[in-house]
Amino acid sequence: MTGENKEVRVRIAPSPTGSLHFGTARTALFNLLFARSKNGKFIIRIEDTDLERSKKKFEEEILEGFEWLGIKSDETIIRQSERGEIYEKYLRKLLEEKKAYFCYCTKEELTEEKQFMLSQGLTPKYNGRCLNSPPKDREPQLIRLKVPEKIINFKDLIRGKVSFDSRLIGDIAIAKNLKTPLYNFAVVIDDFEEKITHVIRGEDHIPNTPKQILIQEVLNIPMPEYAHLPLILNPEGGKMSKRYMETSLLSFREEGYLPEAMINFMAFIGWHPKEDKEIMSLEEIIKEFSIERVQKGGAIFNKEKLEWINSQYLKMMSDEEAGEKIKKFIPKEWAEKKEIFKRAVSSLKERLKKISDFKEEANFLFEIPEYEKKMLLWKETDIKKEEEILKRIKKIIEENTSNRDEKIVALAEEEGRGEVYWPLRVALSGKKNSPPPLELLSILGQTESLSRIERAIEKLKNEK
Ligand code: GLU
Ligand code: ZN
Repeated sequence: MTGENKEVRVRIAPSPTGSLHFGTARTALFNLLFARSKNGKFIIRIEDTDLERSKKKFEEEILEGFEWLGIKSDETIIRQSERGEIYEKYLRKLLEEKKAYFCYCTKEELTEEKQFMLSQGLTPKYNGRCLNSPPKDREPQLIRLKVPEKIINFKDLIRGKVSFDSRLIGDIAIAKNLKTPLYNFAVVIDDFEEKITHVIRGEDHIPNTPKQILIQEVLNIPMPEYAHLPLILNPEGGKMSKRYMETSLLSFREEGYLPEAMINFMAFIGWHPKEDKEIMSLEEIIKEFSIERVQKGGAIFNKEKLEWINSQYLKMMSDEEAGEKIKKFIPKEWAEKKEIFKRAVSSLKERLKKISDFKEEANFLFEIPEYEKKMLLWKETDIKKEEEILKRIKKIIEENTSNRDEKIVALAEEEGRGEVYWPLRVALSGKKNSPPPLELLSILGQTESLSRIERAIEKLKNEK
């Protein structure tokens, strides 16, 4: 049990059998929040006991994802694949003490038995055959723990008291052989050796917890405290699809989300501060975080919320910083039009949900848009009239006086707002929806604006 002044130590223990999933990243964040709020240590561990499915490439991706989020291990990262001797030592001890035994049953036999029990409406569990009468002529297939009949209790920091009846669990498999421990066994050893005080992980691991407690008990090692985080649900309240849950965290980076926004968003999946705040930095969240305030019920993943949070972070960012981030998402020629790019960032930044949106939102500023002549016409306005108005605007821009905008406003008062602003907007943007025309003028600057207006005048003159 954790004493009051014992250092808090938590871990995230991803298996490198795929890229870093959103759910794992969120679990990592809650561990980090807990550690930081308790002045403790946060540790990353790579759980690669499954040698066939574990890949170095995934390990690298997982660590890259954490790094992107700014989640770092306070201590050297350990890999289970490098710790075979440690597990073996514990396995031998258990076998010698007759607390564990070899099981000779094949996978097929076990599956068949499981099917049979299910068909009888029973909870499947191993029947203990190889403990009582081990066959002589077979190779061992597994190492099993002798599980005593008892009620296993633990206090979950989020959900309170949880109980399991070990008779429903049976003798659990803890290793394939002396060199190959299975998850539940390796994790108990590592949590112990790394002096983990709190195991904070997803609710899907609740069924593993009693098994791990049984292993701790036979090894006579202390039980850490447990906290199981609520499931992540889709906006309809259903289980998130596997496809979504397994979305690689790095794909959010590719889509143009900011790591600070991801952290803010993830922290709010299952947790809320006391006050009604939505934008909080990691530091602020740490100050207010408490595991007891994590909700029990499923927590909703809401994409619109993520976009909103992301847009708030983009707004708060300086133009220079936003510009640097945006550059990674656009053709490099755009950024080379330095003045327009700078003004575009400053003006459009406010409207972006994610950095990658800039490409679509700003496209018309860098690539002269195609449009049809009739788009230039405001309602029933005569072509000749529009041409004349555009020529007058052109003249105002050419004069290049500091009261350019006032002159255009005056013109609009004289000729009608639609008659003036509409063709100007279309001439400058080629679109029906755009930032206000006067803003477009200042983003594009004199030269580019004039050339676009001239083009529009030509269209009105020549095209059918
Ligand atoms: N390797 C396990 C997983 O990725 C870790 C579970 C745990 O935190 O104990 O789900
Ligand atoms: Zn057996």
